[in-house]
Amino acid sequence: MSELRQNIATKEWYVIASDRAKRPKDFKHKKPQREDFAHSEKCPFCPGNEHKTPPAHYVLEHDGKWLVRVVDNKFPAFKPEGGRKRTVEGIYRKMDGVGYHEVIIESSLHNDHYTKMSLPHLESIIQTYLLRYKKAMEDERIEAVILFKNYGPSAGCSLAHPHAQMIAIPVVPLHMRGRLDNAKRYCDDTGNCVFCVMMNDEDKERVRVVTENDSFIAFCPYASGAPFETWIMPRRHEPDFRNITDSEIKDLAWIMKDLFSKYYFGLNDPDFNFAIKSPPRDESNDRSFHWYIKVMPKISKVAGFEMGSGMYINCTLPELNAEFLRNVEVPATV
Ligand SMILES: [Zn+2]
Ligand SMILES: [Zn+2]
Repeated sequence: MSELRQNIATKEWYVIASDRAKRPKDFKHKKPQREDFAHSEKCPFCPGNEHKTPPAHYVLEHDGKWLVRVVDNKFPAFKPEGGRKRTVEGIYRKMDGVGYHEVIIESSLHNDHYTKMSLPHLESIIQTYLLRYKKAMEDERIEAVILFKNYGPSAGCSLAHPHAQMIAIPVVPLHMRGRLDNAKRYCDDTGNCVFCVMMNDEDKERVRVVTENDSFIAFCPYASGAPFETWIMPRRHEPDFRNITDSEIKDLAWIMKDLFSKYYFGLNDPDFNFAIKSPPRDESNDRSFHWYIKVMPKISKVAGFEMGSGMYINCTLPELNAEFLRNVEVPATV
């Protein structure tokens, strides 16, 4: 029997097709071919090729070399020129594509991976996310910032060199608005943050927890649309990612290293996406929202049913996935 499960925070229904269910180990596919060399002459993000990228907005140095570098995307989806004014074209509305589209180059090594990075390096990466996120939000024209990473070709990544991206936009995406409305309605009804309720329940039940520390808990949500989807949530109720503390950054670096190492060793280095879910400008003090990071290994394919319904079929059980990831042994040398 398959079952439908509803995510309490997003209100979305997912099909958990447990009669077609695969065991977590069935997802340990052949290791993908990655460019496994530390430097590439052709790569615009490798040291020595800095002239091949737009000028750097920010460079973090360590031992006389750069560790993290932020540049504009060479083919930006949004540019800083323009205003927020909507104009009308027939029955439609349009506006300037004003905003920022930056690339955060996360390492000087072409084949670096969160699994291999030191914790201080990962902290520097998160500090850089925060810095650029805050900087983009200083621009009054910006409504929302999406900070994300695509890793591997099936996650939409065309360059192997480790990098994340930040896109700052002048509108509130409908998807984001929907999440906020649900959270607000829940808070109106119960007086509680739905994300805190969800997290506390996961903490109590323990069955879907993957990894945790003092500041964060990472779990496979009860209702999720993809195998091994994991949410990393701060334990402290806080709507806005911009208010992450230094000690939380340290703890987040640890969680990221641990979670991505579990994917790497348990699932053979799968492609993945992650995105920081934080509210738009005008809702950043709204007590009903709670920022988190959604991580999706790219293991299953989205097809016609998903396109037709907006509902996702998950042919794995989140409880089994979490148990599997919890038990992945990460080699001590990493
Ligand atoms: Zn490179
Ligand atoms: Zn909360």
